[in-house]
Amino acid sequence: MRYATLLLCGVFLSCNSQSNSEKGKIYEISKSEETWKAELSEAEYYVLRQKGTEPPFSGKFNKFYEAGTYVCRACGHALFLSDHKYDSRSGWPSFDRDIEGHVETLTDRSHGMVRTELVCARCGSHLGHVFNDGPRETTGKRYCINSVSLDFVPKTK
Ligand code: FE
Repeated sequence: MRYATLLLCGVFLSCNSQSNSEKGKIYEISKSEETWKAELSEAEYYVLRQKGTEPPFSGKFNKFYEAGTYVCRACGHALFLSDHKYDSRSGWPSFDRDIEGHVETLTDRSHGMVRTELVCARCGSHLGHVFNDGPRETTGKRYCINSVSLDFVPKTK
């Protein structure tokens, strides 16, 4: 009986820890919200785990064009390449594509809008949204990403 109770608690907690990502989905990297909170700064936790948005023109990667790879701030998964970054003038780092299969899309119905949300495919942390007003000469997509959701790994020469 005691074992069954513990088991039920475990199931409840593991589902609950996913409440800020796709409901019920267990990602390859799954941690309790308490653990994420301890590992991330307040701003990072707000954006990555609570689906917040950093103020436009405030992020460190908004006007940043060095060669390298952008990785998930939460788990280190490679998400975007500098070759695909462009200046959308939106105030957020923008890319015309992701590293295929490394970013997952979800339907976001918050704030009275229907948008396509982007999360890290490995840990489910929030990155931003994708829109169809990107550069026409390439993909036409604008991956609008929060700087605080990213880390940068420079290309080695
Ligand atoms: Fe991640």
